[in-house]
Amino acid sequence: MSGRKRTLDIDGTGSESRVKARREEVGGGGGGGGGEAKKVDTAKMQINKYTGRPFSQKFWTILEKRKGLPVWDYYTKFMELVKVHQCVVLVGETGSGKTTQIPQWLVELSQQNQKRRVACTQPRRVAAMSVAQRVADEMDVTLGQEVGYSIRFEDCTSGKTALKYMTDGMLLREAMGDPLLEQYGVVILDEAHERTLATDILMGLLKEIMGNREDLKIVIMSATLDAGKFQAYFNDAPLLSIPGRTHPVEIFFTPEPERDYIEAAIRTVVQIHLCEEGAGDILLFLTGQEEIEESCKRIQREVDNLGPEVGSVKCIPLYSTLPPALQQRIFEPAPPTKPNGAAGRKVVVSTNIAETSLTIDGVVFVIDPGFAKQKVYNPRIRVESLLVSAVSKASAQQRAGRAGRTRPGKCFRLYTEKAYQNEMQDNTYPEILRSNLSSVVLQLKKLGIDDLVHFDFMDPPAPETLMRALELLNYLGALDDDGELTQLGAMMAEFPLDPQLSKMLIASTDYNCSNEILSITSLLSVPQVFIRPGDKKKEADEAKMRFAHIDGDHITLLNVYHAYKQNNEDPQWCYDNFISYRSVKLGDGVRDQLSRIMDRFGLRRTSTEFTSRDYYINIRKALISGFFSQIGHLERSGHYLTVKDNQVVQLHPSTCLDHKPEWVLYNEFVLTSKNYIRTCTDIKAEWMLRIAPQYYDLANFPQCEAKRQLEKIKNKLELQNQGIF
Ligand code: ADP
Ligand code: MG
Repeated sequence: MSGRKRTLDIDGTGSESRVKARREEVGGGGGGGGGEAKKVDTAKMQINKYTGRPFSQKFWTILEKRKGLPVWDYYTKFMELVKVHQCVVLVGETGSGKTTQIPQWLVELSQQNQKRRVACTQPRRVAAMSVAQRVADEMDVTLGQEVGYSIRFEDCTSGKTALKYMTDGMLLREAMGDPLLEQYGVVILDEAHERTLATDILMGLLKEIMGNREDLKIVIMSATLDAGKFQAYFNDAPLLSIPGRTHPVEIFFTPEPERDYIEAAIRTVVQIHLCEEGAGDILLFLTGQEEIEESCKRIQREVDNLGPEVGSVKCIPLYSTLPPALQQRIFEPAPPTKPNGAAGRKVVVSTNIAETSLTIDGVVFVIDPGFAKQKVYNPRIRVESLLVSAVSKASAQQRAGRAGRTRPGKCFRLYTEKAYQNEMQDNTYPEILRSNLSSVVLQLKKLGIDDLVHFDFMDPPAPETLMRALELLNYLGALDDDGELTQLGAMMAEFPLDPQLSKMLIASTDYNCSNEILSITSLLSVPQVFIRPGDKKKEADEAKMRFAHIDGDHITLLNVYHAYKQNNEDPQWCYDNFISYRSVKLGDGVRDQLSRIMDRFGLRRTSTEFTSRDYYINIRKALISGFFSQIGHLERSGHYLTVKDNQVVQLHPSTCLDHKPEWVLYNEFVLTSKNYIRTCTDIKAEWMLRIAPQYYDLANFPQCEAKRQLEKIKNKLELQNQGIF
């Protein structure tokens, strides 16, 4: 482990000393202790006011742990601030207890006063679910009752729910039906430093709501630094800063750049395991599911091969699409020390989730290759994609900090110190500057915010990006030429889908195939349906071909859905056919929810007669009604160009199309080493011209081969209309 040594003092104090005064009363909302101090012994006889039963043993065990959290000592100070001020900014190191404790205090407050709910937003679904479960345990109640969560397509709350963890996107969605957020007495925006798109918009909204609802309390929570910016934005809100209880972390850089960061990362894990004495778990940051699963297998194999004298490792993957039960594994203990004294280690291989959202106790070693998948948007070619990019210095510091939670730790950065100093930007750009805004603009319009240019964004998006969003919404018919929300647009906004999907779903009723488009839309809204394990690629591909439809991947998805239903939703059938049971099942749930929204608007669910030759044609036409702006044209040279934007693209290797259609509609533009279009369907130019005449107004078209083709077809169509053909 060569490299220069430096010590990083994460919180700037380097000290572990802190005020020892602790709250002695029973904890948070669960104890119902209000403010009186009680001895724990007598408290043990207390009844949980929510369940009417005595507290469980688990409650008391967790309570002991909670009392050691840094925020615990700041109860009085925080509550005083909240009582006096409408908005408070709270900053504290990851793991200090912000997300789990503060909301419980606010539930207490809210129960005393107006009895409205407390909302606590999270940028990630995983965090919302996992934290809600933890807090339900802490309060000794059943998840979904007093404490619940709400994420897109999954609502785990009830009438009783007083504390609701939710994704920031869900709260934004709720605001459309409840513009003053009247069901809430307190809104906590957690992880505000992440500056997700939805959090940024929520901040702007809350700032407007504040004036109309003086009773609403707002808490902005964050793990890092830039509190001043948030304070200023919220009219000089007071700041409570909770000193971290972090230990120093020693930082190592590599002397030379690493050619292959995954190789380097795996090597480093094995070296740490062999060379570092005593226990101490390892946290490795990688960028995505495939990479993580693969690395876990390799690390496990390499360590197992080292022989019985070497301590055991338990490799645990962590990423957002992992099923919740498997995510909980990160809280399992490390393998025991062997009789020969060789310590066992837990190795968590995670995406950015472990950077701030989830705290994993026991981590002493962090390996940071310096990359993360980040969203980028290019308004010129209208492409949003997830790209593996270098992280910012702020991210790197957060990552390093994960090593110092339990004792002094080490962070191995797989890049040079020079790269850190000169090439990495200070902070990650807020997502609003890196996103396609069509969905957000539609929601804002629905919220009645018409003047987007003067909306109080913390960082205003680029005008070109806003314009692109307005333009697309206009083509989709969601906004009229004056930028006013149309009836169609208002309906589209009610679906928790991107505008193109919601338009397609609504329009499918005109093509007599809304049942089919519902199924396709649902499966497009869940994680990958087809499974392709590294060691069974061939079998998986063969299995997929059994579902393939000649017209393309959308209808292939439909075939999967139908087969799933015909096989009685059997998990074994899914397994045998390399279909992700979890995804299709999830998709089926999504389908139910979308159907209910359709019913609410009186949108009929219909199908064309299966034996009719129009059955598939209608589906393909409906696809165009939403995705007319995502079509590629096969040029004479043999490659595809995206229509209007003229980007060279290739059909993604995963496509089941066995031919190269002249016109191909795609669901997604994937940027990797090449530009790929994924989930593709063969369509006809006549349909494009008929279904989206505004978009295919050839007078406003750049000169290109596609235009010449379309002109020919248009002329032919006109002649047909005049009865000449
Ligand atoms: P913060 O929001 O300040 O980063 P949290 O409130 O999320 O901190 O976490 C505080 C502590 O609670 C963590 O250090 C961890 O020990 C514990 N904790 C949180 N979630 C869980 C969980 N699901 N299982 C076990 N412990 C947890
Ligand atoms: Mg937190």
